[in-house]
Amino acid sequence: MEYQLSVFLISRPFTCALDYRLSAASPPQPGCRVSVPLGTVSANLGIIVRVQEAPSAAQSLKLKEAIVLDEKPVFAKDIYELCLFAADYYHYPLGQCFFTALPSLLREGRPAQFKPEPALRLCPGAPAAPSFKSEDLARLFELLRQSPAPLLKQELKDRGFSATQLRTLVKRQLAEEVEIQDTNEPCWQERCKAPLKNSGLELNAEQSQAVSEVCAALGSFKTFLLDGVTGSGKTEVYLQIIAAVLQRGQSALVLVPEIALTPQTVERFYQRFNAPVLLLHSALSDQSRLNVFLTMQSGRAAILIGTRSALFTPLHALGLIVIDEEHDSSFKQGDGLRYHARTLALKRAELNACPLVLGSATPSLESVWQAQNGHYQLLRLTQRAGNAVMPECTLVDLRKEPLSLGLHTGIGHTLEDAIGEETARGNQVLLFLNRRGYAHQLVCHNCGTIFTCPHCDSALTVHRQEGKLRCHICDTSLKLPERCPHCGGENLLENGFGTEQAEAFLRLRYPDLGIERIDRDSVKNKDNLEQKLQRIRNGESSILIGTQMLAKGHDFPNVTLVGILDIDGGLFSDDFRAPEYTAQLLTQVAGRAGRAAKRGRVIIQSHHPDNLLIHQVIDPSLPYLSLAYDLLQARLHLHLPPASCQAFLLSNSLNREKAHLYLLQLLQTLTARLPQFRELSIGPVMSDKIEKRHNRYHFHIQVLSPDQGQLHAFLQAALQAASLQKGFAEVRFAIDVDPLTLY
Ligand code: ADP
Ligand code: ZN
Repeated sequence: MEYQLSVFLISRPFTCALDYRLSAASPPQPGCRVSVPLGTVSANLGIIVRVQEAPSAAQSLKLKEAIVLDEKPVFAKDIYELCLFAADYYHYPLGQCFFTALPSLLREGRPAQFKPEPALRLCPGAPAAPSFKSEDLARLFELLRQSPAPLLKQELKDRGFSATQLRTLVKRQLAEEVEIQDTNEPCWQERCKAPLKNSGLELNAEQSQAVSEVCAALGSFKTFLLDGVTGSGKTEVYLQIIAAVLQRGQSALVLVPEIALTPQTVERFYQRFNAPVLLLHSALSDQSRLNVFLTMQSGRAAILIGTRSALFTPLHALGLIVIDEEHDSSFKQGDGLRYHARTLALKRAELNACPLVLGSATPSLESVWQAQNGHYQLLRLTQRAGNAVMPECTLVDLRKEPLSLGLHTGIGHTLEDAIGEETARGNQVLLFLNRRGYAHQLVCHNCGTIFTCPHCDSALTVHRQEGKLRCHICDTSLKLPERCPHCGGENLLENGFGTEQAEAFLRLRYPDLGIERIDRDSVKNKDNLEQKLQRIRNGESSILIGTQMLAKGHDFPNVTLVGILDIDGGLFSDDFRAPEYTAQLLTQVAGRAGRAAKRGRVIIQSHHPDNLLIHQVIDPSLPYLSLAYDLLQARLHLHLPPASCQAFLLSNSLNREKAHLYLLQLLQTLTARLPQFRELSIGPVMSDKIEKRHNRYHFHIQVLSPDQGQLHAFLQAALQAASLQKGFAEVRFAIDVDPLTLY
């Protein structure tokens, strides 16, 4: 038979399908991959979207021949539909949406095949209770002993064991390495009669209420916003809802921010479920990612926990989606298909007729707004679970603190004293400063030259330990200079402090205490982070200083003091989201204090202690949600998102004039059509706040509309007009829908 295939190429920005022909005994299915010629490139990867019987041999002869790569579609039906939705909503070429949704090996045209993965199991003759020097080794041995099947080495690593520990067991001939093959095993439900290891904790009233509301909605599409203060037991709620999902024979998808995927969190899932749990995160090899994709697709695992991109993994009989820390900005992709996982999860839950649970101690104003409008059902956990109580917050007026050595590195006297007191009691202290590096700029004291990045409009940060100046945008680094290249001056001033400098002060001040810095410079990989966290957990280290990386997911039971070194930056930003982010950050960081039996306290330092926002955040009688309602009111007043829909038209180029002209012309073309879009407000062409990045010049146009339909119609028109602009080969154009940055 002759068939005519409509195909979207995954590496080309085409907005329509191309047609090819195929001679085959039976028609291929939409969602299968094909290799097709185009122009001078003979093998382009594409996805079939339509198959027709070719009307007549004569007509289809003009078409080029396609080679079909898959027997079965690589796209599950819901993921396929999700891509169609994403292409439409984000005004992004469908082929490239398909690209985003596929594991990289499938993008490269490799077969959709499982490759054996290394796993460990106990040696048949291993003694029942060998002695171990470390508790971890004993725990590892016990895990292997109890497991009915070999455990993937990757899983053991995700659960916090190091490669060395795995090797030690093998060397001692207690464990042996085997390979897990693609077994063609049946679905997990058939292999695993009891999906639960145990039924979990006894829930408090609020938790039970939350669990039963969601469970009542299983089998239908409904969105819940679980607003639960830090430590209120949200994770326990997810676990118990998932248990109910598994009992129905369905599977669950849990999305978390990258850094929240700690062995502690992961362990709670493994401890609860017999049913197989898989993880998808950035540290996996391409083959492991494909294995996860195939295992989930065939229903051989029941639960997938992963970061943003895990959203595109096919799940057999999907019964629930959870997004933990739903306010986290890492759920929005910053380039390519600029999707927000929450937006797409909503669609995916709808496609699968299953509930979506958005959980956070500090929900985004977008979600709070939806809950207020009745689109999401609000569930609240207002108490900390167990016996933990909320910490007490103190605001320190930095203007009244003496100009001590500590203050120059961000640590005032009051905080310094408190650190001394708490550590003397054997407690731990967590210090938060959202700026890495030693100093945030270097200035020549003689001629005033500021050292800036040659590729970006940004000052270089001093990294003393590395002996380098580093750009925090493009990561370019230069050797730390000894003199000014312009005037030869030798007096170079370091302005502003970052985590590296605060750490240096702390080491000087508390030479006998273990200090861990946790930021992108000091933490190179997962193992490295785990070692640091381990030293914190076993009490070797008592002071932790770090950036965002510390604010999320980690549970430090012995931290009784949290110090927030500098929040003034967040108070005076021109981003309308800054108050929301500041409130979220303060609440999250403060939530790290006193998570267990010990009462915690929080010290916030500011040069602007009269600022209303800070007072609202630390007011114990004002829960985050009430503050969120206030902030939301202010947004609605100004017709800003979420009250209106926002998008940006973006251009960038190596050539500044061209990048600018591109948007100017586009705007001119569109002006003629504006009467059609009455509700729309369109900004002028502006350069980005940091115009030059990676040597490219960036410009944008902001578009706002209270009417989503009009915004999207306008963006469609813009995309079409953009595709007709001539003479701008070197300009890149993009649309960002529901942006989180203001460019
Ligand atoms: P969240 O995810 O809201 O920050 P967690 O689920 O991590 O909170 O719970 C915080 C702590 O409280 C954990 O140590 C957890 O084991 C404990 N916890 C949760 N629910 C209960 C409960 N119903 N009874 C006792 N302890 C609980
Ligand atoms: Zn740079």
